[in-house]
Amino acid sequence: MLRTGLAAGLALPLAACTRRGNDAGPAVRVAAASPTPERTAATPAVASPTAARTPTPTPTPTATPPPPPPTPATIEFRPSPVGNGEATLLTVRATERRGQIRFLGQTVPLRQQGEILWAILGVPIDAAPGPRSAEVTLLDANGATSQRVTATVTVATLERPIDYLEVTEEVQSILTPQAAALEEQLRTKEFAAFDPAARWEKPFIRPVAGDISTQFGSGRSVNGGPVGGFHSGADIANDAGTPIVAAGPGRVAFVEAHPIRGISVIIDHGAGVKSGYHHLEAALVMPEETVEAGTLIGRMGTTGYSTGPHLHWEVTVYGVNVDPVTWTQTTFRP
Ligand SMILES: [Zn+2]
Repeated sequence: MLRTGLAAGLALPLAACTRRGNDAGPAVRVAAASPTPERTAATPAVASPTAARTPTPTPTPTATPPPPPPTPATIEFRPSPVGNGEATLLTVRATERRGQIRFLGQTVPLRQQGEILWAILGVPIDAAPGPRSAEVTLLDANGATSQRVTATVTVATLERPIDYLEVTEEVQSILTPQAAALEEQLRTKEFAAFDPAARWEKPFIRPVAGDISTQFGSGRSVNGGPVGGFHSGADIANDAGTPIVAAGPGRVAFVEAHPIRGISVIIDHGAGVKSGYHHLEAALVMPEETVEAGTLIGRMGTTGYSTGPHLHWEVTVYGVNVDPVTWTQTTFRP
């Protein structure tokens, strides 16, 4: 299956991309080393007529050699190609120690780890297939742009099932425009800031026992209606009250009741990655608590827009929903 191949995080360094990155990224050097003597000479002479013509000391030419040009950066995506609704790890090898990347309309900072700069990028489920460029801007020690490099990664469309939901009138009545607006408002707040340091070093663990009842990214048809929207997480069904644990280490960022997602815990794992645990019967942690993979955080329920006890589990990368199950198979760290 295409999905498995991609999701398993096959390390396929796209040599073509790397090469293209180098070619397309002429080093944009900032004129930090503009010769100062010129500026001195250009200063208008404002000496008053009465001023004695004291000989101005000739400035000693302190011609500092220009800094060596930066070594061209090399860029790699893993996996590459990347499926829609999946994440990819971008690594940059460069002499610079800081930078940022612009990809699919979002600009995010690069993290440093030893000789490598890196970022996790999320591809939205509705991203069109085809090559997508990522523009990396690297900064020198003074924070000035040292070089810009463009690399390309291909977005591949993954096959997703369609989920035919039977929803009672009572549950369906939860989905009002007001509920949707409040949900959106809460989501905006929840994805307004991200902890910088990545806290996970292993694949995530499944947060609860049980089978996946609805896959991430499934198309949705409610009560025989047309297929619209997609499923933003993976559902794991079990009995009400089943213990739910954190999938990875992090900081409890939010505990709150959503009109649609119900009672929720959201954990910030750093570097743009968050996980959300929704429709809980009860949350058992408080905001700002530090959790490890396996820390008990709540109990399974059916709060919000839900047809029965299950966990709606989400993983987001800078607010972009990606398949959480892939995170149990891949570490996404350099
Ligand atoms: Zn769900």
